[in-house]
Order: sequence, then C-alpha cells, then structure tokens
Amino acid sequence: MSAGRYAPSPSGDLHIGNLRTALLAWLWARRSGRDFLIRVEDLDRVRPGSEQRQLDDLRALGLDWDGTPVRQSERLGLYDAAIARLHDAGRVYECYCTRREILEAPTAPHHPPGAYPGTCRHLTEAERVQRRSVRPAALRLRTDVASFAIEDEIHGTYVGAVDDFVLRRGDGVPAYNLAVVVDDADQGIDQVVRGDDLLASTPRQAYLAALLEEDPPTYVHVPMALNSSGQRLAKRDGAVTFAELSDAGVDVFALIAGSLGLTGSTPRELLESFDPAALPDEPWVFVPPLSSGR
Ligand code: GLU
Repeated sequence: MSAGRYAPSPSGDLHIGNLRTALLAWLWARRSGRDFLIRVEDLDRVRPGSEQRQLDDLRALGLDWDGTPVRQSERLGLYDAAIARLHDAGRVYECYCTRREILEAPTAPHHPPGAYPGTCRHLTEAERVQRRSVRPAALRLRTDVASFAIEDEIHGTYVGAVDDFVLRRGDGVPAYNLAVVVDDADQGIDQVVRGDDLLASTPRQAYLAALLEEDPPTYVHVPMALNSSGQRLAKRDGAVTFAELSDAGVDVFALIAGSLGLTGSTPRELLESFDPAALPDEPWVFVPPLSSGR
C-alpha cells in the first residue's frame, strides 16, 4: 500500500496554518494516487472535543480520507513491541535525568546544543538501581551516529543531528519520535507531508526507521503560516480557526487555495492546477481579520 497522511494532535482547534498543511498533504497524496489517512496523535495534551472538531473542520474544507482515523492511544502495544525489539538489539537504556540536569550537563564538543549529553548511557547496574529508586526512568535510544541524512522533496538532502533521543518518557508515554515512525511504517505510509517545523526531528525519525528495518517515507516539509511578527501562527493571534474565520465572513477554502497560488472551489479542482514545483517556498504570513470581540 502507498499512502500519505495528516496527523493532528487534538490539543485544540486547528488554525488556518494547520488546515493549509492538511490540504497540502491531501494534494500531495491524491496527486500521486496514494491513499490519504488521518491519524490522531493523542498520546499527549488532549483537549476534550477537539478531535471531533478537527475532523469536522478537515471535512468542511472538503478533504476526504481512506478508512477510519486511527488514534495513537489505541496502539500502545505496537510501540511497546518496537521498544522491545530495540531493547533486544541492545539499543535501549534507562535515563533518569531531569530536563534541568540535561541543560546543565557539560556537553561534549561533537554534541549539538540541546542534544542529550549521554549522562545515563554508561551507568553501572548498581547506579541504575540507586537512581531508579529516585524517579521513574525514561527510555532512550543508544545511537551510533551523530547525524543522519534524509531526502526531502522541498529541502533536498538534509543532514541533521541524531542524539540518544527518548523512546518512552518517564511517565510511560511513548515519545512522539517513536510513535510516528512505528505508525507510519505500520500504516503503509510512504509519504510524509507536514510543516517544516518538524524538519529538524526528521533525521532522528529516519535513523530510527532504519534501525527498525523500515524504508523511510518520502518527506515533504512545507512552509508554514506565520503571524505578522514572523512567528509561528497561533490561536492567540486572533480569528484563526475555521469557525472563527467563517463567522467573520471569510471563505477559508478560497483563502488557503489563494495562498498556494491555486484556483478552484474544491480540493479535487485544485488538483488540476497543483504543481509542487510552483508552490510558494516562503512561509505564508497570515493577518487575522479583526475579531468581533467574542
Ligand atoms: N502531531 C504532530 C503535530 O500536530 C504532527 C506529526 C507529524 O506530522 O509527523 O504537530
């Protein structure tokens, strides 16, 4: 099977930048004759009702998808199985560091800023027993590279840091980088179109896919929507959701299509003029209409 996907986190309503990325993911998938899947990434920060509203908004935009959306919270066994495989291959170790300890640890010269410095990598069993009694362990991947290259349809060859990243958090929740790789492979997803804020995490994911003997998908990291100060668009920027914009009289679909230089009144119609090479390569600056004060 060959499929693309959109994988929202149900932590709130989608804003127009998210909807634009979803439309791009749909266009990329459908243009190449792929299935299009929705995956609800609900391992973290779930806001009640937001999954349903997100799906409703995607539908209101005219997107369709194949099968029923899957939820990560219902797939915990898959993540455990992948961690067990990595563990059996000697690739997993326990980490007891707090965020603060990581920030304050001396970093080795070849470690990029923010990379895990490897504090817990070489602990003795006695040290582990002692630290386990202080706080629950996270699980980290024992990597044997410092960086990894991926191919991206927009960014070309991109090389990024790979550190001993977290596979399972101390509270037992599978980490995003693990879940996304396991799910994309399990769901037959061979095309990942998403915001370019995730480009820097992608070498980690592709490296992990290689360890799990999965082919990495084709990556397409698309420019995102920014506010007028050049920051990533957010809910606090004003009227940015489908409902808020529609209430303000905005034709959300036409606005997004226009921002992509496309014409048509349905996603299918856009497909006719959709040419990835002609897409704007700059972020889209979105200035919300004045809100009605609600
Ligand atoms: N759930 C992530 C987000 O909403 C997207 C993950 C992905 O597309 O890989 O930012």
